Amino acid sequence: MPATVVSFASGAVRGASSVVRIEEGDQGALVVVEATPFHPVDHTWPDQPGDSGTISSGTESVRVREAVMAAVSDDGVFAVGTDIPVKRGVEGWTWLVAHPIDGPAPSWLVEGAPVDLAVDEARRAGLSRGHTACHLASLALDLAVADLWRKDPGVDALGTPDFEGRANQTSRIHEDGAVDEYRLGKSLRRAGFDTESFAATLADRTEAINARLRDWVASAVSSEVLAEGPTIVDRRRWRCELAEGTAEILCGGTHTPSLSDFLSIEVALDLTDPQLLVMTTTASPAA
Ligand SMILES: [Zn+2]
Repeated sequence: MPATVVSFASGAVRGASSVVRIEEGDQGALVVVEATPFHPVDHTWPDQPGDSGTISSGTESVRVREAVMAAVSDDGVFAVGTDIPVKRGVEGWTWLVAHPIDGPAPSWLVEGAPVDLAVDEARRAGLSRGHTACHLASLALDLAVADLWRKDPGVDALGTPDFEGRANQTSRIHEDGAVDEYRLGKSLRRAGFDTESFAATLADRTEAINARLRDWVASAVSSEVLAEGPTIVDRRRWRCELAEGTAEILCGGTHTPSLSDFLSIEVALDLTDPQLLVMTTTASPAA
């Protein structure tokens, strides 16, 4: 069985394929097809939730809860989601998108059967806007705190001191938004970041980020995903040509095709715990 071919990188939400494996499990069956438009949640960096939708054949249809990563080892071990014992792309494993359904597979859903796949479009569009907004907010955050570094921490996709890369701990994307957590502990201070000045100027930093995001939304430039190959395991990058430069970020998720899809993107910064910055990003879709 080859790696699953995926079409979500180009924005696809529908596809036709054939079933290559049905794996019955405790929480229902997992369906694997040759090619899918479903974006699966990543098992090691679960920032963007998997797509939901349907698999159907004629008048028959089943709900897909949330697409997940699966992998089969060369010696036949089938593992799903966080049970996969290796990182995405490790050799000796075949990488798959699994579609979990409730209950066992119905009689028409068998290996070899031709099926139609349809992603829930409104949810996908919301998650794509949320993911693009998340990247833009991170780049704007790096720019807004660039003067607070006393040593060179390396650079982000726009050549700015890489606060995101140094401090980001978790990123959770939802429809039209994201929540990012940054660790502001001793190691960041040792790396040369002026945590005290940051805390003292939090409101100004927030305003700087939001001003930048307003400019970027107004620029209405395109936002695209570039794939190095057709399968789930091929590397993909998000690219956006901003006034400050062309940002390219390795990214397995989906994105909205243009910043004109936003009415606005805004962040709020929370430093209730002085060791933990929480950035909440909220996007409003254009009408
Ligand atoms: Zn991403």
